[in-house]
Amino acid sequence: MNHQAVEVARSAIEEMGEGPAGAHVGVNVVGGGVAVHRFKADLPGYRGWEWNVVLACAPGSSHVTVSEVALVTGESALQAPEWVPYEDRLRPGDLGPRDLLPAAADDPRLVGDDIDSRHLSQRGIQETSERWEEGETGPNSDFAQQALRNCATCAFMVPLTGDLGQEWGACVNEWAFDASVVHREHGCGAHSATPEVAGQGVPVAEPYDDHQI
Ligand code: SF4
Repeated sequence: MNHQAVEVARSAIEEMGEGPAGAHVGVNVVGGGVAVHRFKADLPGYRGWEWNVVLACAPGSSHVTVSEVALVTGESALQAPEWVPYEDRLRPGDLGPRDLLPAAADDPRLVGDDIDSRHLSQRGIQETSERWEEGETGPNSDFAQQALRNCATCAFMVPLTGDLGQEWGACVNEWAFDASVVHREHGCGAHSATPEVAGQGVPVAEPYDDHQI
């Protein structure tokens, strides 16, 4: 490493009047007689930042000149998360009661000639059904897998209209999944055909005398 170049770079930082340069942490040779010398930036509030000094040396010359001095983030510096475009920022549940979110004119979930006659497209129906199927009231949920009776035969399931109604309905049982959309194959113990429990509802167990154990 060229110690004279390091000292030129260090002096350039100190001439900025922002404080002394920290330890020299490396040099990146850019090519064509240009190198970037990196120093720790021991400045309050800039943990992990570096001073970068770009030095140049003309071909055939030993005279080093300073092209640029910059304070830049190092690998350990706290950095802002990756930029997310505004149109990708909205998440389910973000909307407030007075927020407006018009569907795009070419929204593939809708069909119709004008804004007043638009209705769900087959793709909109399919995407909705696929999304709900992954939820806790879908046909693969824990309840659906273990239920003794399914929503399809429950009086508390009110089917939706249209194509979605073939598989989906609203549960209207306040003790179960009230106001949630449930799949025909979902189910629970509050099914309308669940018989009354005899006794006190405690599972029957064989009594034993613990003195005998
Ligand atoms: S009470 Fe249970 S079985 Fe009946 S619709 Fe609601 S979730 Fe389905």
